[in-house]
Amino acid sequence: MIGSVLMTVSLSVTWKPTNLVNNVGKPEMSKIKPKPKIIFSPKYDIQFFGLEKLHLFDSCKYGRAWKKLKNKFGEKLDNWTKCPETEVSIDELSTVHTKAYLSELITNSQYLSRALEIPPLALVPNKLIDKKVLYPMRLATRGTIMAAECALEDGISVNLSGGYHHASREQGDGFCIYSDIGVAIYQLKQSGKLKSDDKVIVIDLDAHQGNGIARIFYEDRSVVIFDMYNADIYPLDMWARKRIDANIPLSQGTDDSVYIDKLERELPSFIENQRDAKIAFFNAGTDIYERDPLGKLSISKQGVLKRDKFVLNSLINLDIPCAMVLGGGYTKESYELVADSIYDILNTAYNYQD
Ligand SMILES: [Zn+2]
Repeated sequence: MIGSVLMTVSLSVTWKPTNLVNNVGKPEMSKIKPKPKIIFSPKYDIQFFGLEKLHLFDSCKYGRAWKKLKNKFGEKLDNWTKCPETEVSIDELSTVHTKAYLSELITNSQYLSRALEIPPLALVPNKLIDKKVLYPMRLATRGTIMAAECALEDGISVNLSGGYHHASREQGDGFCIYSDIGVAIYQLKQSGKLKSDDKVIVIDLDAHQGNGIARIFYEDRSVVIFDMYNADIYPLDMWARKRIDANIPLSQGTDDSVYIDKLERELPSFIENQRDAKIAFFNAGTDIYERDPLGKLSISKQGVLKRDKFVLNSLINLDIPCAMVLGGGYTKESYELVADSIYDILNTAYNYQD
């Protein structure tokens, strides 16, 4: 029952510019007509002699999601896709991460095995981990930078990876090594695409609290954070929680009706108050899904789709470009949830007919 209600509502939401009323009562139109771009490389997938199966994470979900979209859109998808060719450099990573941490990553397999939550990696030579695991993550970090640049030009972009929101300046954790969003924000400001005090929104709707982002920007109030997460699970980082501008903790098992209701009540006023923001990053973790073993929330497939549509519409209606990243998602269906949301974004924007 609730599924059919949600589907009906979600189908009624479109990307078409919406009439808005500004604070002097004059109607205005959204100016952005999104031409969404997908950022993807086949090298995002992590395949490492079967070791990837030791973590719940489907480290090939990126390629699977892209293939599903390719089956739907055919060659048109190639026109909308940009492929990162080079990994993010150490100099770029150094804008966020400490030198001590970056050198730990290239020397200490034990450290990496803990951060990646794959204990047997402790026995693997560091150079091999770097090539097979860290390189795809550096490439995906480049992808998030590209997604941010595309969003500024075209309104919406999706990096088919990234969302490493537990990585802080001096520490990796929870399968997150590089803070892709943090690095992207620094790169936009260093390259002059954004001014140093331009406002940036981070909307983190992964099931886990985005403590790395909060820690990196603890003192930098030009980054405003909306974080809705399961408060009963990892990382339980109380100090980082104090930094979240819109802190919305959820109980374990929260279902569609409570989740969507909270989102619809909290997000629009948050964005309205930050409408001078130049860009938003949206961590669209699919580990809120009801079958996800780590997220421990109870959101249906339709609920995930409705969430993503609501966030993007809320931003586009206020002319705020959005770069979406994938974040967590630990079921065999995670790639399908991702593909469904992106299908909807592309289908709506390009008015594609099957
Ligand atoms: Zn997560």
